[in-house]
Amino acid sequence: MPINDEKAKVCSFCGLPGTDNRRLIEGDNCYICEMCISVCHQMLELDAPLEEVDDTEESPKEFVLELTPQEIYEKLSDYIIGQDEAKKVLSVAVYNHYKRVQNNLYTDNEIELDKSNILLIGPTGCGKTLFARTLANIVNVPFAIADATSLTQAGYVGEDVENVLLRLLQAADYDLDLAQKGIVYIDEIDKLARKGDNVSITRDVSGEGVQQALLKILEGTVANVPPGGGRKHPHQEFIPFDTTNVLFICGGSFEGIEEVVGKRLGNKVIGFNSVTKQVNSKEMYKNISHTDIQKYGMIPELVGRLPVLTALDVLEVDDLVKVLKEPKNALIKQYQIMFQMDNIKLEFEDEAIRAIAEAAYSQKTGARGLRAIIEKIMLEIMFNVPEQENLQKCVITKDVVLNNKEPVYYYLENKIA
Ligand code: ADP
Repeated sequence: MPINDEKAKVCSFCGLPGTDNRRLIEGDNCYICEMCISVCHQMLELDAPLEEVDDTEESPKEFVLELTPQEIYEKLSDYIIGQDEAKKVLSVAVYNHYKRVQNNLYTDNEIELDKSNILLIGPTGCGKTLFARTLANIVNVPFAIADATSLTQAGYVGEDVENVLLRLLQAADYDLDLAQKGIVYIDEIDKLARKGDNVSITRDVSGEGVQQALLKILEGTVANVPPGGGRKHPHQEFIPFDTTNVLFICGGSFEGIEEVVGKRLGNKVIGFNSVTKQVNSKEMYKNISHTDIQKYGMIPELVGRLPVLTALDVLEVDDLVKVLKEPKNALIKQYQIMFQMDNIKLEFEDEAIRAIAEAAYSQKTGARGLRAIIEKIMLEIMFNVPEQENLQKCVITKDVVLNNKEPVYYYLENKIA
C-alpha cells in the first residue's frame, strides 16, 4: 500500500489530515495515520488473548475414569490394610461419582444423576484420611483436606468454608476445571454435632451454623472463593467455584455413638424377644444408620447429603503389624530405603515389629502412633550408624524396642553383638 503524500486527505479513524509528521497509509477508499496505527498496535498487545485465538486449541479434556470398582479396590489395597467393607463401598462410590460427572458433563442424557458424598466413621488412626487421599491419587484428581473444627459460618472468627475450595484450586495449580472435579476430605465432622440430649435447648449454635454452611457446598453450588484466601472482603473479586462435581468425603470418630445405636438395637431386641442382648462395640459400628447420625446431633439435611455411609474397623495388633510391613510405602520399607542409601541393610525381627504394634495398640491411636514409636527407637541408631565403618547390616530386635538395647550390627568381616 502506497504512502500517501497528499496533505488534503484525512485519517478514517481520527479524522485528522495527513502531515509530514503524520503520514497516511491508503487502503481501499480509506486512510489510516501513523498515530492511529500505533494506538491500534498497543490495543492489540493489551488484549493479548485476541491475538492468541487459536481455533485448533483443545477445549478442556473430557474426564474419563478408566478404572472399574474392582481395580480401584485393588489399588486401595496396595496402601490400606484391612477395612475390606469400606474399600468395597468406596470403590463403588467413587466409580459411580465419576460416572455421574461424565454423564452430567459430557452426554446429552436428560436424566441427571444425583451426587453421593461419603461419610466415613471410625476411630482415630484407622485410615479415614488415608482412604480419601489414596482415592484422589488413584483417580488422579486434586485433593484438599479441612478440619471441620476450624471452619466457621461466614462472619465468625475462623476459616470460611469457601477456603477449603481455595485449597482444592491450589492443589489443581489454579486449573478451575480440574479443581471442580476434585476430592475434599472434611475431618472431624462429628465435632459439629449439636450437643446434649435435648438438642433444641442446648444445641451448639456455631456447630450447627457450620453444618448449614457446609450443606450448600456439599449439595452443589457456585461458591465465591476469595483468591487470596483469608476472610472475605466486600470489594474483593471472587472466583466462582462450582461444587456440583466435587466429591466430599467427611470423616469422624463419632465417639459415644454406640449408645445411640445400642438404644436403637436394644429396643428392637427387647421388643422382639423380651430379652436384652449385649451387642459388642464392633457390631455397633457396623450397624450405624443415618438415623443414628442424626440422633447424634447432625442436622438431617447434612446427613441426607452424605448418602454413602461406611464404618471402619479399629485396627488390631495383627493389622498394625501389617501396616508396618505391607503397604507400598510401609514405614519399615521407608527406613530400609534410608539405610540402603548408606549401603546398610536394615532388618526388623518379627518380634520387634509385633512389640511396636502392641505399643501403638495400647495407645489407642490406631496406626497413627506407629511412626512416633518407631522414630523414637530409630533416633539414636540413625545418629550413630553413618559413623560406623564397614557396617553391613543392622538388626532391630525385640530388646531394642522394649528395653532400649543396642541393635545387632554386622560388619564386613565379623559380627559384633
Ligand atoms: P484417621 O482415621 O484418623 O484419619 P489416618 O488415615 O490419618 O487416620 O491414619 C494415620 C496414619 O496411619 C497414616 O500415616 C496412615 O498411613 C496410617 N494408617 C491408618 N490406617 C491405615 C490402614 N488401614 N492401612 C495402612 N495404614 C494406615
